[in-house]
Amino acid sequence: MNHWSTHQLTEFFAAVGSSRDERSATTVAMERASEVLEAEVGAVLIGGRVEVAWGVRSADLDLALANGPDDGTIDVAGLDELHVASARFGASHRGDLLVARAGEPLSPEERQLLQAMAQTLGLALDNITLLSAERRLREEREREAAERLALLESLREARHDSLTGLPTRMLFLEMLEEKVRADTPTSVLFIDLDRFKAVNDSLGHRAGDELLGHVAGRIRHCLRPADVGARLGGDEFAVLLDDTTADEAVPVAQRLIESIRRPFPIAGRDVFIGASIGIATHCDAAPADPGDLLGNADVAMYKAKKEGPGKVVVFAPQMHAEALTRLTMTSDLQRALEHDEFRLQYQPLVRLADGTTAGVEALVRWRRPDGRYVAPADFVPMAEENGLIMDIGRWVLRTAGTQAARWRRTMPDLHLNINVSGRQLTDPGFAADVQGMLADCRLPPTAVTLELTESVLMNDPKGAIDCLTDLKALGVGLAVDDFGTGYSSLSYLQRLPVDELKIDQAFIAHAEPTVEDLAVIRAVVELARALRLRTVIEGVETEAQLVAMRRLGCDLGQGFHLCRPADPERLLTPVAA
Ligand SMILES: [Mg+2]
Repeated sequence: MNHWSTHQLTEFFAAVGSSRDERSATTVAMERASEVLEAEVGAVLIGGRVEVAWGVRSADLDLALANGPDDGTIDVAGLDELHVASARFGASHRGDLLVARAGEPLSPEERQLLQAMAQTLGLALDNITLLSAERRLREEREREAAERLALLESLREARHDSLTGLPTRMLFLEMLEEKVRADTPTSVLFIDLDRFKAVNDSLGHRAGDELLGHVAGRIRHCLRPADVGARLGGDEFAVLLDDTTADEAVPVAQRLIESIRRPFPIAGRDVFIGASIGIATHCDAAPADPGDLLGNADVAMYKAKKEGPGKVVVFAPQMHAEALTRLTMTSDLQRALEHDEFRLQYQPLVRLADGTTAGVEALVRWRRPDGRYVAPADFVPMAEENGLIMDIGRWVLRTAGTQAARWRRTMPDLHLNINVSGRQLTDPGFAADVQGMLADCRLPPTAVTLELTESVLMNDPKGAIDCLTDLKALGVGLAVDDFGTGYSSLSYLQRLPVDELKIDQAFIAHAEPTVEDLAVIRAVVELARALRLRTVIEGVETEAQLVAMRRLGCDLGQGFHLCRPADPERLLTPVAA
């Protein structure tokens, strides 16, 4: 007879009831039942097959059960004859709890107890099923909630710029659409920062991001509550001015520019940038697309940018035509390269002391298929913008190099000056292009001088010094072109490895140079002499100018009075003379 107690039974209920999953509930039930009923073998059967067994191998028990306990006993390999008792569990007979013991068969009380244990196991299993279903449901709900939250977050991100907290282009256009539909006069400002790239490049992206955050703050500060500021991307911002005509928008734009022009404290120093602004207004009943309105403001901003830093331009319909011209010019320039529409003319550099020709400057011309000539000033900026300047520049190098080599057969001292654009200068392959040209044309490096405008050099003087040093290493000469039109830092001028200063023609604007003109040019010539630079005066157009420049000790001169730019075949005679 066994000695089970209420305590053991309570323990059994607690252990099975607190099991987390079906496997541990059945295992605990089987082990405890065997223990309480002092059985040699315990098992849980599902569908008549042993699911788990204790005290015997499952396969051996399956075999013994299959051989049939016809009188309530079984023979298990390695054990004595065992008395078997089992009780069903689960509402619709999920399985059986089985014990088998040697010695005495189970008493009716013990069978009752086994029955109670089986019922407990059934209840515990039902409970586990219910709880796990509930857990799955809860997890499902939590996952759905997290997904909804992520979706909302991404929508919010798409509508708000994470860096500045301002609305994005998407939200800005939505708000603009509302205003346009309401038919109140609405102005759109397209703001592009000037010199932002330089800050990003020199101080790093983190400083650049910090700066954008400050700019957003300044923009917000300039607006009324009903206005909207947005970040379109990069260093581009937009502003929607509620109930504002174009005339009223201009002073707001100027206030914004003034505000952005004030120094920003970034990384322990004062950083100065600027902004260019284009304005487009929706003011009449004509339906307007918000995207078009923003596009018009962008076109006006482009024009403002071209007019110089810190400008405000109000959109006018003809600007579209100009934008279209820019687009067609890109494809025209591409075609011009393919169809050989570029020509070179040459303008001599004349020694002022004796009037002899020291060299020639190659000047690129674009002859369109209709015979019209386009001046470099009208296509070089565009070619710089779309990158075609690199191909045009290589063509100029080759063509001028070949021509110079031809001339040097009869004029071995003739020097060749070639204009180089800012984009060419910073192109990593440019020095190799020059070297290749010198080798192919069999020109000594000292026969060639590359001209770089002052504004290109002063835009990024440190970068320019690096690029010029590479070129200087080839042995070619370097000249500062249009000197006096930019804002040269004299300390940099001293450090640039240049040989020649080409004084801009603006200095001799008067046919009869005035005392003031001469004083300024004298100062420049003396500066050049102190830096051991050769001087070239550009734009000599009268005899009086020529005489005055010769007297000042300028080395070389260029200009209509000396010789106009001409095709190479027409230039041979004057050069040879
Ligand atoms: Mg030049």
